[in-house]
Amino acid sequence: MVHAIQSVFREIKDIVYPNNCVICNKYVEDSRNCLCKRCFSKFEPTWLEDWINKLRFSSGIDEVYSAWYATGAINDIIHNIKYHNQPRLGEELGRRIANEIPIDELEKIDLITAVPLNSVRSRERGYNQSEWICKGLAEVWNVSYQTDLLKRVKYTNTQTDLLANERKQNMENAFTSTNSIDSLSIAIIDDVITTGATISACAVVLKNCGASKITGVSCCTPQFGY
Ligand SMILES: [Zn+2]
Repeated sequence: MVHAIQSVFREIKDIVYPNNCVICNKYVEDSRNCLCKRCFSKFEPTWLEDWINKLRFSSGIDEVYSAWYATGAINDIIHNIKYHNQPRLGEELGRRIANEIPIDELEKIDLITAVPLNSVRSRERGYNQSEWICKGLAEVWNVSYQTDLLKRVKYTNTQTDLLANERKQNMENAFTSTNSIDSLSIAIIDDVITTGATISACAVVLKNCGASKITGVSCCTPQFGY
């Protein structure tokens, strides 16, 4: 009986608020998801390659993984999460990253955290897309997440138009942490990892606080060895 009522409510909800794919607008059956199977199948996976040796700035980072290459629709998805508050989409990406990068394949991770908001604009926006990604990832990996581990003390303009060295300078002294992280192995999440300047700045701070190991994780990367 309860199932029948739930099913009726679901059908009514589908009629009133149809759950359509954010890319192609076709109906998505799983109400937790915002992406249909067909659109997701076009994402280009990196196949779990640890690309630490190709990262331009890797201080403090022990290993780095990106789920997909930043090609095609994933760029629009990241834009949507960043600029149009879409927590469900962020969580879904987190769950999908966890499937691309199974925790069993990694060395032990004790805690997940996010790169703090990266510009005055995003601070004004008031939410951090990476926190939603953290949430989805934490759910599937079954690892705790703590989003206030790092604090941004220097707000900077977007890194997109900067050269690699300028990105690094831009990130110097940008983060701090007052936490004591007693020998924990931590995964830091960002939406995109390009040169590693941002995530490396975060990693160095957490290592100085006592972290034993840092794993960088991102949704996507423009290419390895950028
Ligand atoms: Zn679709």
